[in-house]
Amino acid sequence: MTQNFQIAIDGPASSGKSTLAKRLAQHYGYIYLDTGAMYRCLSLAASRAGIGPEDEEGLKKLLAGIEISFQASEQGQLVYLNGEEVTRAIREDQVSNLVSYYAAIPLVRQELVKRQQEIARRAEGIVMDGRDIGTVVLPQAQVKIYLIASVHERAKRRYLENQDHQYSDQSLEEIEEEIRQRDHYDMNREESPLRPAPDAVHVDSSELTIEEVQDRLITIIDEKKREKAENI
Ligand code: C5P
Repeated sequence: MTQNFQIAIDGPASSGKSTLAKRLAQHYGYIYLDTGAMYRCLSLAASRAGIGPEDEEGLKKLLAGIEISFQASEQGQLVYLNGEEVTRAIREDQVSNLVSYYAAIPLVRQELVKRQQEIARRAEGIVMDGRDIGTVVLPQAQVKIYLIASVHERAKRRYLENQDHQYSDQSLEEIEEEIRQRDHYDMNREESPLRPAPDAVHVDSSELTIEEVQDRLITIIDEKKREKAENI
């Protein structure tokens, strides 16, 4: 059996993880798993059901009955929550502002991490992006990338993306503030805080185009693949 190849990409909000993870998955013919979308789905379902982050019993029941799935389409990957297409709904401000609170709850993380690990176990090759992929979800991943960029640069990218997709009409300053708050919360929570794995390669994309970052990541990954092939 071919041993599977795992690429973990972690980093703060809007650092370009998902764009790059998608491109890498396409380049190598691997599956792409957007773990942030899973936390977003859970947050959307909980807020619709009026279940707050402090309601452990409510969250437990919700998690037991929640189905999150992904489907490739011509418009990119679509996200489904219990069969309903929520690709756009999970990117709206209401969810972005809540998601970090739900993502800090241990029982939420345990269940979603279990699902992520199961998906990775069945895949021949996978690129997963999130906050705890290299540290908790796939500590054995052959490649771990920690992608960073300045808050200003990340806010600018999100602002342009919002304009493109009309996700939100937040100003650049509001986005900067939201990103700062989400980073702070994600980095300082007790359960699986955002931090680089000790063996992660750090890449700062502030001054680079997406193509330049992609080329850099492909060089790193190809090198790891060569090492792996030599060791077999
Ligand atoms: O990646 P994205 O910005 O869509 O993630 C939304 C939120 O989900 C993050 O701000 C974080 O709170 C949470 N998250 C997480 N662990 C992951 C992926 C996302 O805690 N692996």
